Amino acid sequence: MKMRKKADLPQKNCPVCRRPFTWRKKWENVWDEVKYCSKKCRSAA
Ligand SMILES: [Zn+2]
Repeated sequence: MKMRKKADLPQKNCPVCRRPFTWRKKWENVWDEVKYCSKKCRSAA
């Protein structure tokens, strides 16, 4: 497995809007728990 480049940020698919979203700095401590791309999607779930 290669080392992850800084530009190669992890992604997930939002189950509500079905779009991929990319890791954000604000999620660095909670990324494992992040499921939705936004508060809006989270409240729609
Ligand atoms: Zn979403």
